[in-house]
Amino acid sequence: MAPADSPLTLFDDPVEEPVAAEAPVVNRLFDVRRVYAEPGAAASPRGQQVLARFPAAEVVEVPSHWQVPDLHGNEGNVDRWVRVKSETLVLGVKKSLSARPNGRSADFIAPSTANGCAMACAYCYVPRRKGYANPITVFTNIDQITGYLRRHVARQGPKTEPDQVDPAAWVYDIGKNGDCSVDALVSDNVADLVATFRDLPTAKASFATKYVNRQLLDLDPAERTRIRFSVMPDRDARLLDVRTSRVEERIAAVDDFVDAGYEVHLNLSPVVLREGWQADWTALLQQLDDVLSPATKAQAAAEVILLTHNAGLHEVNLGWHPQAEEVLWRPDVQEAKRSQNGQDNVRYRADVKRAAVVRIRALIGEHAPWLTVRYAF
Ligand code: SF4
Repeated sequence: MAPADSPLTLFDDPVEEPVAAEAPVVNRLFDVRRVYAEPGAAASPRGQQVLARFPAAEVVEVPSHWQVPDLHGNEGNVDRWVRVKSETLVLGVKKSLSARPNGRSADFIAPSTANGCAMACAYCYVPRRKGYANPITVFTNIDQITGYLRRHVARQGPKTEPDQVDPAAWVYDIGKNGDCSVDALVSDNVADLVATFRDLPTAKASFATKYVNRQLLDLDPAERTRIRFSVMPDRDARLLDVRTSRVEERIAAVDDFVDAGYEVHLNLSPVVLREGWQADWTALLQQLDDVLSPATKAQAAAEVILLTHNAGLHEVNLGWHPQAEEVLWRPDVQEAKRSQNGQDNVRYRADVKRAAVVRIRALIGEHAPWLTVRYAF
């Protein structure tokens, strides 16, 4: 039973299952004061786990994780939305489960077990349907989600045609709407996904990350989880990657994650075209070549993704981080592109982009020839 003073007492539906002891989360990214929760999510074992990790938080019942009016209206106020990211979590139940075909970073996008992010990269495309701050929502019906994934993997049968995603495994991106390394601080959803894929010899989980969570080293991924550490020149990251682990720390972690049984790829992204970009990417590739172990290099591959930006995000960023927009918003070399979901995106002009992709592929060939480029665009 939950303790008498548990936030669960706000709801009618007490939990019957014993909840494992949880250590409160002590981390620079979180000072959680309030958890907006669907009643069913708060009462579930996973919801109770999250609440036990943030025992000081007040629990506020909401009818739906999408209907949290308090989270909206902080555009352009970075202090406010970083505070919202630190101080707020949301608990919900993921209702519709589907795995969408992808074909770039993964074969399929797995149903989310969380969305939102506690970090604040200036170019982030993660949907902002919960206000600009977009704090983390944890989906508590993890057993339904892992059950769905097992059945989906079984339906695919073995992968018989190698592709750029993976020669032999169906790869599922489990972190398309956030950062799994940070989500793993908040709940055991990521640990459960790693354990699920450990037992699926025809599939792998995969997620990109900009945060080093060394607790993940204690899991046993058995090479069925691929972590894609995002790297970029430190000069860009210091300007654009707000609240993330420093690039230096990400690179220093790569060998440890390989040793712990993860497959580790690198996301060279976003590539931001600005004065000096080629020299800085050269230095980064040389650094990777110098510090990564032979074992890491033998299994490494990379995605190269040139920056895509967005008109609405540009307006918001001008309010809090105009220096970032000096490199992100470059109408002289960018063109408009309406995205599939109707967003007014901008990307580098086709000719500019083509030349940059050729150039960065050449730099990789010269300075990190062991790094297979899975795709570049
Ligand atoms: S870490 Fe990823 S999800 Fe989080 S803000 Fe940065 S780009 Fe967005």
